[in-house]
Amino acid sequence: MAKRFAHARRGALAAAAITAVCVVLLVGLLIYDATSGRNAAVRSTTAMATVVTAKVWGPAGEQTAQDVLDRITALDEDCLSAYADTSDVYRINHAAGNPVKVNSYTYNLLVELLDIVRQTNGAFDPTIGALTALWDIGGPDERIPDDGEITAALGAVGWDKLHLADGNVQICKGQLLDLGAVGKGAACDAVHTVLEEDEARSAVISVGGSLLLYGENPEGDDWSVGVRDPRGGSNDRLGTLSIGADLCVSTSGDYERFFEQDGVRYCHILDPATGRPADSGLISVTIISPSGLLSDALSTACFVLGYERSLPVLGLFEGTQALFVTADRTVYVTPGLEGRFTLTADGYTMGAE
Ligand code: AMP
Ligand code: MG
Repeated sequence: MAKRFAHARRGALAAAAITAVCVVLLVGLLIYDATSGRNAAVRSTTAMATVVTAKVWGPAGEQTAQDVLDRITALDEDCLSAYADTSDVYRINHAAGNPVKVNSYTYNLLVELLDIVRQTNGAFDPTIGALTALWDIGGPDERIPDDGEITAALGAVGWDKLHLADGNVQICKGQLLDLGAVGKGAACDAVHTVLEEDEARSAVISVGGSLLLYGENPEGDDWSVGVRDPRGGSNDRLGTLSIGADLCVSTSGDYERFFEQDGVRYCHILDPATGRPADSGLISVTIISPSGLLSDALSTACFVLGYERSLPVLGLFEGTQALFVTADRTVYVTPGLEGRFTLTADGYTMGAE
């Protein structure tokens, strides 16, 4: 249908626009300014337990947006989901310690993840599933486990107990993979090929807390990305980042899933060193990287590490920048973001490096 708009003669545009409005109402598709070449198709779905939105500028915008959503849904169902019995992660977690033949995508992803585990000194650990299941933060069984339970779950955490060989993945009995910290960023990377094949000019793909900014902003400026106020409501902004083309942005925060007991906040990001919710003095971390996988993994890892310990780790990843918000409401940015962040929320101050 986008092709039809692109080829419509001017005289037919009014009728086409009316048709477009009807389509919007019927299938939830939004088409902006179909006459100027700035037209974008927007489609949304639910996948990876979150809202996924694809906004695409290109010759086959609608179809491309749908292709993007389909790719992410397939990635979840075939590879990453912890809940779909069709996925590699599900099959690995339910194999009681036996080797499982997986898709080459999943195998290669796990190889990459093990590198990130080492580079983050274990702050990011995809074998953390037994601990996240024990705490179940944001779930029906969330509670503070006792020390013995935490020690027992920690015994099932550790990338050294994960074996990768010849396309097979084997975890130890009791161990569980949890790719919740990286699936959304990995999805942003996986749709690059779809966008290239469909010759999309530009796109904004949003998968929960991860965003892909593909190509140039058709408005001609850098992309403008709002960062959520970690102590505000879901629509409140801390400020705005100005971002160049072909970058991914991921945010991890203690406001996403948490419970409070006796005045203490217990959030869903756990420190594999302690078995308890991360307590590094940060309330949110945003990472900008050409790689969605890295932006997502590092936002989680840096949340665990805290501001000071994150800086040398970030230095290992070329082209990666970060924005930190500390519990005392100070905002720090790495040098590449100097002049690219505008703080708008009250009650926060910019910190000096
Ligand atoms: P994110 O919002 O990207 O920071 O991902 C948080 C999710 O990753 C949690 O809900 C857990 O499922 C999982 N997770 C929590 N702590 C860690 C950790 N230290 N390393 C890897 N995954 C984690
Ligand atoms: Mg993450």
